Amino acid sequence: MNWKWLREGNLTYLTLPKWQAEGINLGFSTRVGGAGQVPYDTFNLGLHVGDDPVAVLENRGHWIGHWKVPWSSVVVGEQVHGTNVLWVHEEDGGRGVRELETAIPGVDGLLTQQTLGLMAFFADCVPLYFYYPDLKAVGIAHAGWKGTAQKIGQKVIERFEEAGGRTENAWLAIGPSIGPCCYSVDERVAEQFRSNYHKTPFLHPQEDGHYLLDLWEANRGLFLEKGVRPENIDVAAICTADNTEWFFSHRRDGARTGRMAGWISIRGAMLEAGGTSGTEYSNIEHRVSSFD
Ligand SMILES: [Zn+2]
Repeated sequence: MNWKWLREGNLTYLTLPKWQAEGINLGFSTRVGGAGQVPYDTFNLGLHVGDDPVAVLENRGHWIGHWKVPWSSVVVGEQVHGTNVLWVHEEDGGRGVRELETAIPGVDGLLTQQTLGLMAFFADCVPLYFYYPDLKAVGIAHAGWKGTAQKIGQKVIERFEEAGGRTENAWLAIGPSIGPCCYSVDERVAEQFRSNYHKTPFLHPQEDGHYLLDLWEANRGLFLEKGVRPENIDVAAICTADNTEWFFSHRRDGARTGRMAGWISIRGAMLEAGGTSGTEYSNIEHRVSSFD
């Protein structure tokens, strides 16, 4: 895998050096190094989970500051487990950053060609990252089982293609999320996939009548079906439920837990230093999980 752990000061996060070298700042935060108290300990970035907003905003300041983007140039969507995807522009800057109420309502995917920071929140759901070099455009999407069953990854690709983007040149990334090792789902969930997909090789039947659902493989399959080159898809294959020290997990911890943030931004002339100064932190141990 091409994802790397980085540590800079108190901040520990994951990134893709290949994307960074291309001028795209990309990150996925961990739970460590922040101001939050149990059960939001400590680097919770979600405002909607019952944590003290003072602690969340302190953490957000640390995270956003790392990328060297002003708060007024960061955009957050509401995230409703749907498939609405939206191009955002400078006038959207600042939405949802300091308070929930101003987040862009009803969207789970954000795209931009401007030097905006796109931020989305996760605690088991799958972060999808997009870069279309032809358009010099980036995107991020929130794909839980519902979004994956409804193929939000393909909806994002369609929006880039409408704008003239060529998917055979696109770069895609799948960040840390709950893995097939831990994600047991019932027949009701499995049926949603069966009715929307021609084949469901990512659903693994278990003896108890449940299924282990591989959201990484489901999303990767959606990208391949749209013509993304396999070598252009970077799958982290890191399970949020298995790595308690590093990640919040809704499945593992229940409703009262924190959120990690996914981040993507185009590094502009004014923002050249952002996100590249961390040192690789190779001592971190995590379980790399796959079904096989
Ligand atoms: Zn796992």
